Amino acid sequence: MWYVILLAGGSGARMGAGCNKVLLELQGEPVICRAARAFSGVVDGMVVVARKEDQQAIQAALEASHAFAGKLHVVTGGATRQDSVWNGLQALPADADKVLIHDGARCLVDEATIRRAMEAVERCGSGVAAIQAVDTIKQVDESWQVTGTPDRATLRAVQTPQAFTVDLIRRAHLSAQAEGFQGTDDASLVERLGQSVQLTEGSRRNIKLTTPEDIAMAEAMLQELPALPSLRVGQGYDVHRLVEGRDLILCGVNIPHTLGLLGHSDADVALHALMDAMLGATALGDIGKHFPDTDERYRGISSMKLLEHVVALLAENHHRVTNADVTIVAQKPKLLPHIPQMRQNVADALGLPLNRVNVKATTTERLAFEGREEGISAQAVCMVQDI
Ligand code: MG
Repeated sequence: MWYVILLAGGSGARMGAGCNKVLLELQGEPVICRAARAFSGVVDGMVVVARKEDQQAIQAALEASHAFAGKLHVVTGGATRQDSVWNGLQALPADADKVLIHDGARCLVDEATIRRAMEAVERCGSGVAAIQAVDTIKQVDESWQVTGTPDRATLRAVQTPQAFTVDLIRRAHLSAQAEGFQGTDDASLVERLGQSVQLTEGSRRNIKLTTPEDIAMAEAMLQELPALPSLRVGQGYDVHRLVEGRDLILCGVNIPHTLGLLGHSDADVALHALMDAMLGATALGDIGKHFPDTDERYRGISSMKLLEHVVALLAENHHRVTNADVTIVAQKPKLLPHIPQMRQNVADALGLPLNRVNVKATTTERLAFEGREEGISAQAVCMVQDI
């Protein structure tokens, strides 16, 4: 299992912001959330190392932004960067066998850079992001007298992520601790073990935010990227079983029928599909996450109530639905007479005019479970606007 250790323990003194620099915002998103988001699709879990006084704020920012979907642990940093990495390594769960170590302040890291480092670990146990040196580097003495000029072609500027097998980097840290060695990066500890370290291509954009000028540079780089449109699309799908002795409720309308839908709530399959479309468009998960069927509060609850909750959740996250289209797949009963009330219910809940909401019904020509009247399915698509 791949884990990432995000280092967020600095005091940010050189930034002069009066707070941990990873909590500063870039285009409205905290630095630590941007960094976490870069790893979200590639690792199974994350350990964030932060000072005690920042832990709550960092945890809250990550949870509020849904930046990271995997397992998340926030642990306390040490006196030095190396100590902080060690605390992060100690906090890795037993199933972690490969780890990326990354500066939380390098929030412009891209997924390709991360994947190159990971691939090198699979091949040879280490993968460390680095770029060609563009400046000529001089060696100097204490009075800045030049003592040498290494050949630039042999020099690389090292970044993070630095990726290793957990076994290798743990051994390197233990050995450095035993010798009282403090390195400025993790690769140097592995080098001291006598193990070769593989560099991989990093990125010039992968800068470490250290001074206020870096923030300005990062903002400028982000503006270069084409802005994402403020419209998102989402889709939802749901199925419920038809049984005797239950009401049939679709889009909040109680429809006379010999069978009804079985479920923990009122089993309004159409609204469930719609809510999943809304949560899907906004990357807020699904209704199972927000209204678990193990929660007694939702037993028999009207799905119109759940829909109100999802509308409020979207508003809290600065989104609103601009239109919705729901398709109900049922062999029986005839739904056409009930469609106007269904549309009205959905439009009212979404705060939309009627001409922004469509509800339609179809049969499957007696094919499949809907055709055999074993259940009813529904699909929904909606457009969501950032507000
Ligand atoms: Mg459902």
